[in-house]
Amino acid sequence: LSEFDLIRTHFRGVGPLRPDVALGVGDDCALLRVPSGLELAVSIDTLVCGVHFLPDCEPEALGHKCLAVGLSDLAAMGAEPAWATLALTLPRRDEAWLHAFAQGFSSLAADHGVALVGGDTTRGPLSITVQVHGLVPQGQGVRRSGARPGQLVCVSGTLGDAGLALLRLPARDSAAEHLRVRLERPQPRVALGMALRGVATAMIDLSDGLAADLGHILEASGVGAEIRLAELPLGSDVAEYVARTGDWSVPVAAGDDYELCFTLPPERSSVLGGLARRSGCAVRVVGEVTRGTGLRCLLPDGALWAPVETGYNHFPGAG
Ligand code: ADP
Ligand code: MG
Repeated sequence: LSEFDLIRTHFRGVGPLRPDVALGVGDDCALLRVPSGLELAVSIDTLVCGVHFLPDCEPEALGHKCLAVGLSDLAAMGAEPAWATLALTLPRRDEAWLHAFAQGFSSLAADHGVALVGGDTTRGPLSITVQVHGLVPQGQGVRRSGARPGQLVCVSGTLGDAGLALLRLPARDSAAEHLRVRLERPQPRVALGMALRGVATAMIDLSDGLAADLGHILEASGVGAEIRLAELPLGSDVAEYVARTGDWSVPVAAGDDYELCFTLPPERSSVLGGLARRSGCAVRVVGEVTRGTGLRCLLPDGALWAPVETGYNHFPGAG
């Protein structure tokens, strides 16, 4: 079987048939139609074996996650997912692996109406790059730069589940197996992100942890923020872990949450309940935007929490 058979077998017809795809997989380029009045939102992410996922990660989960992280970026912009391209570098040709990977990718693509319209396939150390393309009405993409003092800081879902899984699974802690789904199969908050167009003043998705990612909103907006850690939405495992160890870094700085963090004027907070219900995802107010710079995290007793480090830095020391 040639490279072309591989592509035909596993990567043709992934996702729905969309009328805006004039030409998909199989030619030199895909031809895509962007309706007038809409802007194209584009984001690309690479997952490297041993850096972004454990070498024993199930291929089906990997197929899910590599698309999920891209859809999470579209969600954070308020964009509606449309198309994806996939660059795969594989150490060898393994039909069972490819089949499972394509299943995970296709199933999430179908859930969100995303058509796979092209890609590239090469041999080398396992690495997966996905580019996602979404659509958003002109001028309505939710940027990081719109947060203003006095606005509320909100997060979706629960924080720290994936971080706790990363802490426990390498130690073969079987009691943590149920957290694996939060690490390996994040559900991008696409419906919530789209519902927050015109409501959220700034938004980001939480890939590197609340402290680091909210920090990006603060820097882009030229503001500070105060978070009350006691208000963070925690699942029972993370709540139990924090209560026992006093270690807030799991929900605040461990990353891989793929929840949304956004700001909005306090007078708009009455819409949050309805938005959360309609998009099937809980939303919680966790703090306020302040004047000045930087993030202050208040412990339940009111003392200031001092983070050790925030987020994952691929090039430490490089500034
Ligand atoms: P070219 O050499 O012209 O770049 P390729 O041989 O790389 O063409 O790819 C042939 C076709 O298959 C192209 O349409 C490309 O987008 C698509 N393709 C290649 N690899 C993948 C993949 N992993 N997933 C989806 N489409 C792919
Ligand atoms: Mg090519």
